[in-house]
Amino acid sequence: MIDIKNISKWYGSFQVLTDCTTNVKKGEVVVVCGPSGSGKSTLIKTVNALEPFQKGDIVVDGISIADPKTDLPKLRSRVGMVFQHFELFPHLSVTENLTLAQIKVLKRNPDEAKKRGLKMLERVGLIAHKDKFPGQLSGGQQQRVAIARALSMDPIVMLFDEPTSALDPEMVGEVLDVMVQLANEGMTMMCVTHEMGFARKVSHRVIFMDQGKICEDCKKEDFFGDPSARSPRARDFLSKIL
Ligand code: ATP
Ligand code: MG
Repeated sequence: MIDIKNISKWYGSFQVLTDCTTNVKKGEVVVVCGPSGSGKSTLIKTVNALEPFQKGDIVVDGISIADPKTDLPKLRSRVGMVFQHFELFPHLSVTENLTLAQIKVLKRNPDEAKKRGLKMLERVGLIAHKDKFPGQLSGGQQQRVAIARALSMDPIVMLFDEPTSALDPEMVGEVLDVMVQLANEGMTMMCVTHEMGFARKVSHRVIFMDQGKICEDCKKEDFFGDPSARSPRARDFLSKIL
């Protein structure tokens, strides 16, 4: 579904990604972790072409991002992305937030968009809040609306970049519950997160990044298994967050 092939990226003379290669298969849940500044956000943003890269290629559902003929906005519209800071439009109601991109980007008619949006809102347990504005919701609720908004676009894959790290601790669970539910329904997911409970519960693979490189890419059982099989950097990282 996602094939990341020898990606390298520089910001000026600073190399932020070095020869990253991995893949995410259909229905697979892959967790990306690693120290701050290791390039996790940059890597995940290259997958929906929000960040350009200078070397390598990423093929999403058979479509090459490096190919200049590729319609990137179209590709992006099918890759759901949820960030750390729920980027809802503050001046639009929840329902309007859910329908805007469907109408503008997918050219759905407003009734159809509303129907789809409200169905997704129901799925994240927030249908009662459909007429509120983002400012009237808690952080956890806003993040669930952001997930519903991404799902309304019928994504072929969902990317998450630390969706719970800006939330008060008591709201982390409700967002993770929605993500677990999505994973159990077979959604293809690539998640930057330090929630190792989530990784243990639903991920298939764990990628560990350090200094712009993919240092470990292994099955969950191996990642959380025998520590002596891990690289020293991964072991050090795990000892700090577990
Ligand atoms: P965190 O856990 O703190 O979110 P991360 O692993 O997501 O970190 P990135 O945000 O991908 O790390 O950043 C990787 C490196 O690239 C960092 O050293 C960062 O300072 C640098 N970087 C990120 N964005 C830019 C930019 N626009 N220009 C220059 N350097 C950047
Ligand atoms: Mg980051």
